[in-house]
Amino acid sequence: MSELRPYVAGEQPAAPGVVIKLNTNENPYGPSPRVRAAIVEELDRLRLYPDGTAKALREAIAVHLGVGVDQVFAGNGSDEVLAHAFQALLNHSEPLLFPDVSYSFYPTYCKLYGIRYREIAVTERFDIDVNRYTSPCGGIVIANPNAPTGLALPRAHVVQLLSAHKDAVVVVDEAYVDFGAETAVPLLAQFPNLLVVKTFSKSHALAGLRVGFALGHVKLIEALQRVKDSFNSYPVDRLAIVGATAAIQDRAWLDETRNAVMTTRERLSKALEGLDFEVLPSKANFVFARHRTAEARALASALRRRAILVRHFDLPRIDQFLRITVGTDPQCDALIEALRAEVG
Ligand code: PMP
Repeated sequence: MSELRPYVAGEQPAAPGVVIKLNTNENPYGPSPRVRAAIVEELDRLRLYPDGTAKALREAIAVHLGVGVDQVFAGNGSDEVLAHAFQALLNHSEPLLFPDVSYSFYPTYCKLYGIRYREIAVTERFDIDVNRYTSPCGGIVIANPNAPTGLALPRAHVVQLLSAHKDAVVVVDEAYVDFGAETAVPLLAQFPNLLVVKTFSKSHALAGLRVGFALGHVKLIEALQRVKDSFNSYPVDRLAIVGATAAIQDRAWLDETRNAVMTTRERLSKALEGLDFEVLPSKANFVFARHRTAEARALASALRRRAILVRHFDLPRIDQFLRITVGTDPQCDALIEALRAEVG
């Protein structure tokens, strides 16, 4: 285990109120007020174990996304759901394929579970080119929109991947899909090799509750359940079950808050371009931007001194970029003013 290189999550400051925190893609608007009411009501039942299958939550998800309840698997954040998918569905003799620029937990899971993998280069413009995914493989993992680029893949390209690899599981990680990308959920009826993974952390603003889920063919869901039942009987606790259920039932809150994030994202992108940043066209709740002259690491440090946290990845191809979460309008204005002072 000493050779494991764990995923490094963004910093969580001890006093988050005193900084402008744009480093871990949290949603600035908070969850639906119905979540609080549901959690308060559930507090009296904490003596009892939760339903290990999280049936009430899975039913609510099934109704809202138009699938059968037996096509839904729920877990402790989508990170846990992804981990189970890597272990249960993606460990084969042929290598697993995923983009060289993507969620850096993917190679970590491969190392944890001893999965062979091959990273496929994204294009010069950081797009995923599905024509590069032609070799025999043990599975494919794509984040859509991709992280940390924010770039979306059209549904037709996901279809191309699914059709070309009918014998392999294709995982589409849709952590950020509600901010403007095309979901692969309608493809589930046609492709038994598709697993769509989603989270309540971003568009439902429940990163602290830890709820994620997967949608797929019953056979894929059963495989995830087997791994889960060999690992932890109760990964989704009572508060998480009722809180996430209340969140998915408040469609109006979801729409209002994600629209606010998308509107601010476009403002923020334009303002960054005005300061000589190249900004990739994001469909997520963050933007990925590089300045034409200023060094990214130095900029991240300078912002930090001004109590603004953004994310910098010291990784090949992207070390000149900053990943900036879309905050409220005032938070983004403060970021722009701080950057103007540094590079303007
Ligand atoms: N997938 C991607 C692409 C992410 O960026 C994240 C957030 N770090 C996750 C999955 C995991 O999110 P969570 O475990 O909060 O559901």
